[in-house]
Amino acid sequence: MSNDKLNFNGLTRRDFLRVGTVGATGVGLAGLGGLSTEALAEANDIGRLPSRRYGRTGLEISAMVGASDWSPDVIPMAVKAGVNYWHKAQKWTKETFPAAIKSQPRESYYLEITVDRVGGDNRTGHIDEEQHYQFVKQAVARSGAGYYDVFKFHYGYHSVQEAKTNPGMVRAYERLKKEGLVKHLAISQHHYNNMGGNLAFEILNYLMENSPYEAAQFFYTYGDRKETQDLIALAKQKDFGTIAMKTMGGVGRAAGDKKFQSLLAEPKFAGSTPAAAMVKWLMANPNLTAAVVATKSFDQLLENIGAAKQPRLAANDRHALDLLAGYNKGLTCLLCADCVTSCPEHIGIADIFRYERYALDYHELDRARAEYKTLTKNGTACIACGDCLPDCKADINILSKLKQVHDLLG
Ligand code: SF4
Ligand code: SF4
Repeated sequence: MSNDKLNFNGLTRRDFLRVGTVGATGVGLAGLGGLSTEALAEANDIGRLPSRRYGRTGLEISAMVGASDWSPDVIPMAVKAGVNYWHKAQKWTKETFPAAIKSQPRESYYLEITVDRVGGDNRTGHIDEEQHYQFVKQAVARSGAGYYDVFKFHYGYHSVQEAKTNPGMVRAYERLKKEGLVKHLAISQHHYNNMGGNLAFEILNYLMENSPYEAAQFFYTYGDRKETQDLIALAKQKDFGTIAMKTMGGVGRAAGDKKFQSLLAEPKFAGSTPAAAMVKWLMANPNLTAAVVATKSFDQLLENIGAAKQPRLAANDRHALDLLAGYNKGLTCLLCADCVTSCPEHIGIADIFRYERYALDYHELDRARAEYKTLTKNGTACIACGDCLPDCKADINILSKLKQVHDLLG
């Protein structure tokens, strides 16, 4: 491992060799501190990400969106590269709001607030108009941002029926919009078929046609189900914004797998990596507005932005994606939740395997364990009936993986 690849709290050695600079856009990179000569050259030459219309919101957002949990050290570079949409921005207070964003004209960047159910988690909590309204109002005051551009219902509805009959979230949004505290309505939709609800694409197909929602965020990675691809294409036709999340299926674990890395050293992959190829694949979809791409370090940010700027997949990228897809077979859950419908024990299999992804792909073991703990039914509820197995197009031995994940997170 070269010194440049040594990690310290998610940042690399380059982050600690700091000198600071100001780019052509006028965005200061002093927040990055200093960079080695080589990194400084890359930083100044980073260029701009493409932007796309976020459906009916009419916002022109960067094809790669940022998040408040990114290291404050990489945010100036992201702003310089054109990242202008910030997920979960309610985490920033007046004191922690990154200067690189705040120093720009307010209308040039977009802040998203995610609004969760109350009285429990995304499965057990409920929708409460007044509490959601107060939550956003207080967040606006705390952040000093003036308003949030996007009010996003986090985790989404449990079913089409709930979307049809429970107007609480929409009413909270409408009250806040009247007061100028939010501008647009979006949803981040999960699957709820383990609770007798619907799959994300079923709920989103309804919302696209029947509600004031303007855009949605949902799971999407290479090899995903056809229904999600169809949803993205239809959303484009309907001018409904789309942001893909959990996009890097298997990329993190492959990066730490010696056998995978030795295969990747073959000449046909030269110049590509699974991460870069995945970003290009996402960006090459003309129907998708944007993607959330996990970014833990300065090097990752440079790699992701470099790939996003050249979204044409070359032969080496296609080989890298094929290699990753082969590696993921039987190993990495694509979070489609097809298997969940067959489970007589109503185990949230896709949720459990999502937590495994946090641990193995994002290296966030504490978060994964904390999420696993909240489950009312975990992997130990499996009665080994095997009913789920024929559903898995990713060829995962769900029974044994549930055991492995319980050993890791339980
Ligand atoms: S094998 Fe386990 S996870 Fe699969 S359907 Fe049966 S009980 Fe559910
Ligand atoms: S285990 Fe297989 S069927 Fe179940 S969610 Fe994952 S990829 Fe889909």
